[in-house]
Amino acid sequence: MAAAIAFPPCLVPAGANELRADVRAFIAQEKAPGTHYTESSREFSRKLGARGWIGMTWPKRWGGADRTSLERYVVVEELIAAGAPIFYHWVADRQSGPLLLRFGTDEQRDRFLPAIARGECGFAIGLSEPNAGSDLAAITTRAVRIDKGWRITGTKIWTSNAQVAEFMIVLCRTSPRGNDRRHGFSQFIVDLGSSGVRVNPIKNMAGQREFNEVVLEEVFVPDKLLLGPVDQGWGQLISELAFERSGPDRFLSALQLCRSFIEEVGDAPTEAEAVLIGRMATHLWTLRHMSASVAGMLQHKSPELEAAIVKDLGTRFEQQIVESCRSLRPAPARGSAYADALIDAQLYMPRVTIQGGTPQILRNAMARELGLR
Ligand SMILES: Cc1cc2nc3c(=O)[nH]c(=O)nc-3n(C[C@H](O)[C@H](O)[C@H](O)COP(=O)(O)OP(=O)(O)OC[C@H]3O[C@@H](n4cnc5c(N)ncnc54)[C@H](O)[C@@H]3O)c2cc1C
Repeated sequence: MAAAIAFPPCLVPAGANELRADVRAFIAQEKAPGTHYTESSREFSRKLGARGWIGMTWPKRWGGADRTSLERYVVVEELIAAGAPIFYHWVADRQSGPLLLRFGTDEQRDRFLPAIARGECGFAIGLSEPNAGSDLAAITTRAVRIDKGWRITGTKIWTSNAQVAEFMIVLCRTSPRGNDRRHGFSQFIVDLGSSGVRVNPIKNMAGQREFNEVVLEEVFVPDKLLLGPVDQGWGQLISELAFERSGPDRFLSALQLCRSFIEEVGDAPTEAEAVLIGRMATHLWTLRHMSASVAGMLQHKSPELEAAIVKDLGTRFEQQIVESCRSLRPAPARGSAYADALIDAQLYMPRVTIQGGTPQILRNAMARELGLR
């Protein structure tokens, strides 16, 4: 049956304002100026972990704080809006940890979750390959069963965080392709320090080392690091996407530009500038409600449709902001807070509609969920 789109309003939990004030005070004290949330700082992550702000929704038994996903939302939106350097633990907090909670063994949870929550264990996601991005069912990385474990061979690409992370969750083919091309995949937790792993840097447009090519040559992975049942990786992967697609990182990365544009135009905006400021505020507010609604739903289900909508609308909004600011107030060279924010955003924004699923792929998924194709 076709799914219906629903964004139930989300009530801000009691105590959220105090929590928000605590996070702001922490950021004012601990964050260096001029950082972006895609930067990594082990030290910053460890300090956040000590405050109980990583793995917040996980059970206390596994290092979490048993708090609600909306409390986590408050912490995360403050960190991203401020450009705090959280990427070392970001993938693990957002995605790998919840995946381990849902599909991992107790031994895996005991080993990884408390370390992630302390800000001492980073993860990367090994899905994309040189010839398989949107069409992940075409991946060729293979895991072959051997005595006491598996041997993995293949190449992953665009792997964010692998230059600092200790582990990567790798999607592999474990059975030959049959009639159902989505059957026969499994996920493995690979220690990036293992023999046979090579992490080759790829620089982004801004010249930063942010993602990588990860070559796996006959890498041994013990049985105990298989994540979930053999050949059932596809379903796990789909459930992971709701965590990846709906968070405030999907619409707040242009916030710095919005703020500096408002400061730049001051109290005498032209009519077009005033209209843009109004549009920015209303879009941000709406996206925030939609994204917070998904955070609320994540507590008890996996809202892939709504998450895809947030990602599609949020990232297109971010790109439109850059275009609108540039056309109203061009900044050909660095030299002011506004010019720096605009130039950084120009370098950063082309990626946002690609990572985590392109618009075409998101809309295909939405159409499928809605029974339109
Ligand atoms: C900044 C950044 C970080 C990333 N981090 C990671 C990471 O940590 N781990 C990871 O595994 N991957 C990562 N990726 C990879 C990302 O997931 C892929 O780039 C993305 O899925 C698209 O795949 P592709 O680049 O192979 O493009 P392709 O799949 O080749 O797509 C090319 C174009 O064709 C279109 N297209 C493809 N198939 C269809 C279709 N069926 N219908 C209509 N149009 C279609 C696409 O929309 C796109 O416009 C990252 C990418 C970026 C930009």
